[in-house]
Amino acid sequence: MRKSLIAVAIGATLTVAACSDKEATQAVNETAQTEQTQAVEFNQSNPFYAESSLPFHAPDFSKIKFEHYKPALLAGMEAHSKEIEAIANNAEAPTFENTIVEMERSGALLSRVASVFYNVAGSNGNDQTRALQGELAPLMAAHGDSISLNPKLFARVKAVYENRDSLEGEALRLVEDTYKGFVRSGAELNEEAKDKIRAINTELSSLTTEFQRNLMALAKENMVIVDDKAQLAGLSDTEIQQLADAATAAGHEGKYAISITNTTRQPILSSLENREVRQRVWEASAYRGTGNTETDNRPLVKRLAELRAQKAQLLGYDTWGDYVLETSMAGSPEAAQKMLRDLVPAVVSNVEAEKAEIQAMINSEGGDFEVQPWDWAYYAEKVRAEKYALNAEEVKQYFEFNRVVEDGVFYAMNQLFGISFEQRDDIPTYGDNIRVYEVKDIDGETLGLFYGDWFTRDGKRGGAWMSSFVSQSELLGNKPVILNNQNIKKAAEGPTFLSFDEVSTMFHEMGHGLHGMFSDVMYPSLAGTSVSRDYVEFPSTFQEDWMLNEKVLNNFAKHYETGEPMPKELLDKVMAAKNFNMGYDTLEYIASALLDFEYHTLTPEAAASIEDVAAFEAAALERNGVAIDAVPPRYKSTFFAHVFAGGYSAGYYAYMWSEILAADAFKYMQEQGGLTLENGQKFRDTILSKGNSKDPMQQYIDFRGQEPTGEALLERRGLTTPKID
Ligand SMILES: [Zn+2]
Repeated sequence: MRKSLIAVAIGATLTVAACSDKEATQAVNETAQTEQTQAVEFNQSNPFYAESSLPFHAPDFSKIKFEHYKPALLAGMEAHSKEIEAIANNAEAPTFENTIVEMERSGALLSRVASVFYNVAGSNGNDQTRALQGELAPLMAAHGDSISLNPKLFARVKAVYENRDSLEGEALRLVEDTYKGFVRSGAELNEEAKDKIRAINTELSSLTTEFQRNLMALAKENMVIVDDKAQLAGLSDTEIQQLADAATAAGHEGKYAISITNTTRQPILSSLENREVRQRVWEASAYRGTGNTETDNRPLVKRLAELRAQKAQLLGYDTWGDYVLETSMAGSPEAAQKMLRDLVPAVVSNVEAEKAEIQAMINSEGGDFEVQPWDWAYYAEKVRAEKYALNAEEVKQYFEFNRVVEDGVFYAMNQLFGISFEQRDDIPTYGDNIRVYEVKDIDGETLGLFYGDWFTRDGKRGGAWMSSFVSQSELLGNKPVILNNQNIKKAAEGPTFLSFDEVSTMFHEMGHGLHGMFSDVMYPSLAGTSVSRDYVEFPSTFQEDWMLNEKVLNNFAKHYETGEPMPKELLDKVMAAKNFNMGYDTLEYIASALLDFEYHTLTPEAAASIEDVAAFEAAALERNGVAIDAVPPRYKSTFFAHVFAGGYSAGYYAYMWSEILAADAFKYMQEQGGLTLENGQKFRDTILSKGNSKDPMQQYIDFRGQEPTGEALLERRGLTTPKID
């Protein structure tokens, strides 16, 4: 998804790369607090008053205190509004320079303070920062609207757009991007249509909030109460105690309460021996919100699909999917659907092979039943233990934190791009255990600053992400100041060891980091990771695969005590286990992504005429060839928060689209000699330096010489040939 106009207006500093489909659903903001914002003094004593004098304009955390944020943010919005008014009311005829470029220059103060505040709130937040975020949300939204709905400003943007013949390259793309942003917000509509859009937006906002709130109620309503401890066989004593505590807290003293998590699949199902309890847990999950308890999300699903279809048509699009994907790399729902559907036959044949193994395991234990969705994880775990016995603790001994950072991630980036990382201990930070590096280019020139905030702390949100304090821009003379965040638990003393996934994630986030670091564009709103959602995870997923490159792995995966490289036997096991159950994982994702499109490629009439959500869902899965009883979609309609509560409607496909690009590009690079500076330079020139200054498909073709295909993704996931024993 293209950035909102507000982000365009204040530069790309708020761009955060979301990174995994498990992390993308953020809780909908608490109802906006409309506390009166009294005038607060903003003067030179506030460290945000002037640009930071530290190298690269890095925020000076030796001076920044919480009380500085609010006055600086309010002053930032006010200053930005004045700048925008001056552009809109300029007496001179509109030109690219006096309108579009001036918009790019505007909002410097707001950008400066917002990038620091939101980063700190995410990485080292507390009640104060959360309260201020709640207070700011409606103000920032209103500020954004005051720009995107400013008719005088739009008239000037439109005039520049209509005279864009003389422009080319990045300038042309910026004009088109800015103009499209206004049009997509409804700037071209008459007052009657604008009123309708506003009404739809209001209802959409309240329905998505209600959907999110319902999910919390549904989790409570669908809690599974177990009377007898014996029914919990397979769980550890600690787990059982946790369930007992949860039951007590829920008013069921002496019993055991199993809470359901937000996916169809429930983690506890892999260890619960009792088949009846497994079935109860699975059904509580899969039927949630379908009228099985008090809270019913079915009417919301229908109404949301209908309202989005209405909004799309008012804005001149056939369907919501056409509207959303207009600014994506895929370009249309049809293109994205085709890419997913092309994967289905290979994925399904792998699922069938996995299913046969699971069925064989059931049979060998004398089970006289066909595998059901509540059985899959339990027996898959048994198959895994038998075929891929892997001691995670043993593996970790080869992934010591400092070695992974320096001899793994930094080393790989040095081999590919020639860059190096020099630690700077003189730059103040916002919390403990954050490392700051100056990144040096192959010729010794400085590229920018990189903050590695890899360890978990109270007040840090979950998951991993990349963001920036300053984004690159030639226009503003800024070099990038980039952050990577992760939630690695630091050992109380002695070395810290990482899991396989944590190492992979570190490579991934560095991929986003270099997308920001290598950015080489003129205009801040086109910099670095400010690209479409189906493109942004491409450069990051691409870098993940260097972790298993032989040269890289041999350089960092050494035993923390002996320094011995990881034994081949162990490595083989790691590789084999990596793709275990991948047919299931892939199919449940694709099924949800295709379901998303089914709702968001409807006309308003078709959406209004959905009678039965469950029947619609079943027919949709059938139509797409992904209706396999034992492998239900990762999210079913009534708890598909990404698309009915979050901002991923018609966008859930994006993770896999990006992975297709990553796999295809990585495979191509291997064919061209793999880890070489020549290959790195080409990737940097065509992709990593371009930000959003060029059409993403064109960027891809510039690198690859052709459009991507899904073949390499199937190889990456080990899904090319069905594994039939
Ligand atoms: Zn990511």
